[in-house]
Amino acid sequence: MSVLVTGGAGYIGSHTAVELLNQGRDIVIIDDFSNSKPEVLENIRKITGKDFKFYQIDYSDRKALENVFEENNIDSVINFAGFKAVGESTKKPIEYYINNVSGALVLFDTMRKYNVKKFVFSSSATVYGEKNPIPYVETMETGKASSPYGSTKVFIEQILEDIYKSDNEWDIALLRYFNPIGSHESGLLGEEPQGIPNNLMPYIVRVACGQLKELSVFGGDYDTPDGTCIRDYIHVVDLAKGHIKALEKLEKERSGIFTYNLGTGVGYSVLDVVKTFEKSTGQKVAYKIADRRAGDLPAFYANATKAKEELGWIPEKTLEDMCRDSWHYIEMRSKS
Ligand code: UDP
Repeated sequence: MSVLVTGGAGYIGSHTAVELLNQGRDIVIIDDFSNSKPEVLENIRKITGKDFKFYQIDYSDRKALENVFEENNIDSVINFAGFKAVGESTKKPIEYYINNVSGALVLFDTMRKYNVKKFVFSSSATVYGEKNPIPYVETMETGKASSPYGSTKVFIEQILEDIYKSDNEWDIALLRYFNPIGSHESGLLGEEPQGIPNNLMPYIVRVACGQLKELSVFGGDYDTPDGTCIRDYIHVVDLAKGHIKALEKLEKERSGIFTYNLGTGVGYSVLDVVKTFEKSTGQKVAYKIADRRAGDLPAFYANATKAKEELGWIPEKTLEDMCRDSWHYIEMRSKS
């Protein structure tokens, strides 16, 4: 029995692949390398000492995907395939809807054809929209997402609800990520955005290593203790472990469809992250306070109790760990 990991060469997919292999599971990875590199697969093998099957395909290529299900004994699917750049999605909504939503539908249809009905979905805290109070709780109504990227997550959650209603043989986990940062402690896996990064930690590491001049802190006049935005940063390895816990729940009990926040429950400001990064790595991060970025919410973080109580998932890594590991990855990259 194998777990199919779509987008398994990507940032969160590769860290989850490592945790699955460390558990002694068989996995099959598919990835089209649209936002990842083949060397990631070698690094997953290096870290775990384990091998796995890989197919370089687009998950929305029905024929190629069916071939993967024909050739392997797949029992469950964790889906990381999909575009994820919020800003880009506002410029390319059609591409985002085709890849994220149509692609997911091809995957669900193929799963149904092969009677594979255990599914873990990478959702996002963005589904809570702009109106919910913080901390976000799973029982809140999802809101209107602030970008096409976010809307794809809202839509796919809805599609999965409908699939479950029509056929409760499915067991589905909707995992709402908060802000994943950090890297595998080996320094062999990490986040590698193409071009100038949009997200905070990838930008910070590039300033620290001299590739970019200074960080623009988007807004210093929010109604928060230091005036900068607050987010719930979660170490990518903790996040990956959350997927394992969710999958175990699907396997142990007929669970139906359930939703979990994957965050620490603690909010840090942009300046908290900058200062913690400097302290834990010894690197200076030049920054200036700049205008607010359109669409940013002042503060959000998770109520993280449901995942803790029902999955036994407790994030272990601190903000220091997240900063140090993000930096370690960049140091290793610059040496190789
Ligand atoms: N941020 C910033 N400068 C940057 C990138 C991000 O000040 O160059 C801030 C952003 O305004 C937000 C936080 O860092 O408050 C996290 O942003 P990111 O894009 O990483 O994730 P988001 O929460 O928007 O999904």
